[in-house]
Amino acid sequence: MTDFAITRNERPAADSVREGVLAEPGFGKHFTDHMVSIDWTVDEGWHGHRVEPYGPLQMDPASAVLHYGQEIFEGMKAYRRADGSVWTFRPEENAKRMQRSAARLALPELSVDDFVESVRQLVRIDEAWVPAGGENSLYLRPFMIANEVFLGVRAAQTVRFMVIASPAGPYFAGGVKPVSIWLSREYNRAGKGGTGAAKCGGNYAASLLPTQQAAANGCAQVLFLNEAGTELEELGGMNVVLVRADGTLITPDSDSILDGITRNSLLELAADAGHRVERRPVTLAEWRDGIADGSITEVFACGTAAVLTPIAALKSPDETIGDPGAPAGPVAMALRQRLTDIQYGRAEDPHGWMVQLTEAR
Ligand SMILES: *Cc1c(COP(=O)(O)O)cnc(C)c1O
Repeated sequence: MTDFAITRNERPAADSVREGVLAEPGFGKHFTDHMVSIDWTVDEGWHGHRVEPYGPLQMDPASAVLHYGQEIFEGMKAYRRADGSVWTFRPEENAKRMQRSAARLALPELSVDDFVESVRQLVRIDEAWVPAGGENSLYLRPFMIANEVFLGVRAAQTVRFMVIASPAGPYFAGGVKPVSIWLSREYNRAGKGGTGAAKCGGNYAASLLPTQQAAANGCAQVLFLNEAGTELEELGGMNVVLVRADGTLITPDSDSILDGITRNSLLELAADAGHRVERRPVTLAEWRDGIADGSITEVFACGTAAVLTPIAALKSPDETIGDPGAPAGPVAMALRQRLTDIQYGRAEDPHGWMVQLTEAR
């Protein structure tokens, strides 16, 4: 295991400031006292593993990432249990996914050990920033950027991996609420052979305009279809699952969507509970017809940030599929409860998904 050099923040946030943040964390607005960095060069490989005070980066304006977007990231959470210990969920899955994203973006692969140890180091030093209670967590953002100073177009020869952390409140302040989502007919998120299966900033940049259109139509999120406009892909940052009246769960199988760890975990828990699970192409017509004849009873979106969001209706200029006023479905809500119970240590962890980061206190 590589050692991390630790430079403690001599001016950490005052207790009162931190407690103020933890009382009302919101999402992605406040950051902890430290950050992790590891550098990579073609000649030296990964080196300089360190924990440092959180702060702005000094960057050359010719850094490749600022021009060509050679960047990838991950999103995960640390959860505080009733006994005070802090745990995270399937970090090796995030580490392996970051390796796959790196391969697609021509970035170097960081070892699973270095990835998981980076997260552990940051959570241990900033342990006091992990909120307790409710659906609070410490959101962890590992990311990797091409920081070579070079405007030529090729894979960078200088790269940095970092982890930052941000206290997060419950995604739904007033309890889980079903949402309506907007069907983007004009834009695609990804195409065959593109970067859809990689977790890269560029995919998010491309989703912002359609998301503005969704907002203009009263929807929080966008659903993207495949290039032919016939099959479901996913939302801008969440996977989608349909539930049939017979209890079967169906989710799109496509090589241009992001392989969500939340989705995989929910589907495993569903299979444990006796549900049939199908991963296959899913057409928009199947959703429309299934709602019309009652064979599709629930639809939900899932991802680390919101865990699981019931989808009441899909809106587009020509139609609304489903009832925007529909309540959350029982299958979705039971799966959501099951997963969060495991994550917060309120239920046994039959698959060994949880990794302990700090001791009980
Ligand atoms: C991160 C992400 C998801 C959800 O993945 P989880 O591992 O469940 O958090 C889904 N779709 C996209 C496009 C994403 O970037």
